Amino acid sequence: MDLGLKGKLAVVTGGSVGIGLAVAEGFAAEGANLLITARGKERVEAEAKRIAEKFGVTARAVAADVATAGGCEAVIVEAATLGGADILINNAGTGSNETIAEADDAKWQYYWDLHVMAAVRLGRGLCAQMKRKGGGVVLHNASICAVQPLWYEPIYNTTKAALMMFSKTLANEVVGDNIRVNTINPGLVLTPDWVKTAKQIAGEGGYEAHLQGVADEAGGMKRFATPEEMANFFVFLCSDKASYSTGSTYFVDGGWLRTV
Ligand code: NDP
Repeated sequence: MDLGLKGKLAVVTGGSVGIGLAVAEGFAAEGANLLITARGKERVEAEAKRIAEKFGVTARAVAADVATAGGCEAVIVEAATLGGADILINNAGTGSNETIAEADDAKWQYYWDLHVMAAVRLGRGLCAQMKRKGGGVVLHNASICAVQPLWYEPIYNTTKAALMMFSKTLANEVVGDNIRVNTINPGLVLTPDWVKTAKQIAGEGGYEAHLQGVADEAGGMKRFATPEEMANFFVFLCSDKASYSTGSTYFVDGGWLRTV
């Protein structure tokens, strides 16, 4: 199946590891060019080089903190030098761990900047580029926690819910510019970070059982997705084959969501 992605420029935030890296590879496998971003310069540059060599596409890296206005601007400027973005994946993000009683304003502000303002700033800058090119696609990586909160991360739940609403609102604003905007809410995705945390909690010998316990508790398929399984969904939604889809949120959670 030709997904119509060949030669398109996909900007993927948080593209140096985990879901973002798998999405970047998924695009490259379809012949799309890439601009991947993360704060860690060495890792993001190494991954861009590896992907370019493996798939024969152009893959650039920008080391930038998208939780800042300056970091977003650096990404927008670099995308312009590559001819303008066709696809934006707002993926950079991270879990939190706090109670509402104890978390201070600075923590709330950081997650707001990372999960919401990055999408606002990059959406503003890169949708303008897409409009000039005749259209494009924006995809937000929120989380099942946007609608089904985990008790230990109220800031994550709240900012991801805000991201979902931003996505819907942006979709309404740019639908006339031939730009489609959607959200994916993943469930459990086995990234290196999950493995690292599980090893810290349960040790080298017990981490797999710990992860299985997490999956059992979620229910449904009772397993983690691979980043590649998640990436397939992202790539499809950004392709011409998903041309009637905009303003929607898709759950890819192995049956974890407990509501319709
Ligand atoms: P990882 O921790 O594996 O990767 C996060 C990526 O984002 C890295 O490339 C990291 O690079 C980058 N990043 C983090 N903060 C910033 C920042 N301020 N500016 C720029 N880049 C940043 O995450 P996952 O792949 O697990 O998650 C990706 C997204 O998916 C997140 O938004 C997460 O909330 C969401 N998600 C994940 C689930 C899971 O089970 N894994 C489930 C549901 C949603 P660097 O540190 O170098 O900046």
